[in-house]
Amino acid sequence: MANQWRGVLREYADRLDISDATPIVTLGEGGTPLIPAAALSARTGARVYVKFEGMNPTGSFKDRGMTMAVSKAVEAGAKAVICASTGNTSASAAAYATHAGITAAVLVPEGKIAMGKLAQAIAHNAQLLQVQGNFDDCLDIARDLANNYPVHLVNSVNNDRIEGQKTAAFEVVEVLGDAPDFHIVPVGNAGNYTAYFRGYSEELARGESTKLPRMFGFQATGSAPIVLGHVVKDPDTIASAIRIGNPASWELATAAREVSDGYFGAISDEKILEAHRILSAEVGIFVEPASAISVAGLLERSEAGMIPRDSVVVLTVTGHGLKDPQWALRTADGSDVKPTIVPVDTAQIADVLGLIRT
Ligand SMILES: *Cc1c(COP(=O)(O)O)cnc(C)c1O
Repeated sequence: MANQWRGVLREYADRLDISDATPIVTLGEGGTPLIPAAALSARTGARVYVKFEGMNPTGSFKDRGMTMAVSKAVEAGAKAVICASTGNTSASAAAYATHAGITAAVLVPEGKIAMGKLAQAIAHNAQLLQVQGNFDDCLDIARDLANNYPVHLVNSVNNDRIEGQKTAAFEVVEVLGDAPDFHIVPVGNAGNYTAYFRGYSEELARGESTKLPRMFGFQATGSAPIVLGHVVKDPDTIASAIRIGNPASWELATAAREVSDGYFGAISDEKILEAHRILSAEVGIFVEPASAISVAGLLERSEAGMIPRDSVVVLTVTGHGLKDPQWALRTADGSDVKPTIVPVDTAQIADVLGLIRT
C-alpha cells in the first residue's frame, strides 16, 4: 500500500480543517491526471492541459468535496446526509455515505438526470426521490430539511465541499510547478469555480506559485444566470449537470472573477456538443456534455483573440462520459449512429475497413 494515493484528506491533511479525531471517509478520490491536449494546443496556439476529473471514484469531481463533507458529517455524529442534485452529487453522496455506514437521501429533478447517475445513486443504496420540480426547487427543500430535521446537508452550500474541492488546484500547481495563466471550468452552482480560486489563492499565499490564473467559467446559453445577471426561472440545456438557474455560490464566484481578472461566458448546446466530439475524437478523453463546455469556452475565447499564444491553459473536465453516453451516439444531423454490421468473414471485413492484402 506504500505508494497508493491516499485520497485528498490524507494527502492534504495539513491544508484542510481536519484533526486526528476526524474519521476519514475516502474512496481514494483526487490524484487525477493532468493531460496535455496536443489537438487543443494545435487549434489555439496555447499550451493546453486537461484535468480529467472523470477519473474520480464515482466519475466526477464531486468526490473531492464529498470525502470532506461526509467525513465531517460523521465526525459531528450525523446518521444521514441529504443533497439536491443534477446527478453527480447524488452519485457521490450515495457512495460516500454507504461507505461510512450512514444513509444518503437525494432529491433530483424528475426526468432530468442522466441514466448513469441515477443508476449510481440506486446502486449505492441511496433513498432517491424524483421531485416534480427543477434543481433549484430540490435545493430549497434539501436546505429546509437540513434546517429542521436530523439530516446533514452535503450540497456545495456546505463549505466542507468547497474545501475538499480546492485540492484540485493544489494538484495542478504541483504538476506544472506554478499556476497556469488561465483556468477554465464549467459553472452550475459555481462551487467548483470558487473552490479552484480558493486553492490557487492558497498556493500563492504559501509561495508555491507566482500568480493566480485568470478564472474563466462557462454556463450553457439556456442556463446562464451569472452571465445574464439574473436568476433563470426555467433553465434549459442538454448539459444536465449545469442546468441551474440560481447558483448557490453566485456571490463567491463573482468575487473570485473580480480578483482573478476572470470571465463568465455562455455557450450554446450546439457548441457544447461540437466540443464534446473534439475532445473524445481528437484528444481521447470522454466526458459528459457539461464538462465539454470547458473545451467550447476555450475555443470561443481563443477565436475572440483573448488567449495569447503559448499561454498555459488548464481545462477542468468535470465528469465521465460513461455517465451520459447517448450524446456520443448522435450524428451532426441528430440521427442515431448505426454501427456497421458485417458477416463472419475476414475478407469482407478487410474490405469494409479499406484494408488491402499485403
Ligand atoms: C456539479 C457539476 C458541475 C457544476 O459544478 P458547480 O460546482 O455546481 O458549478 C459541472 N459538471 C459536472 C459534471 C458536475 O457534476
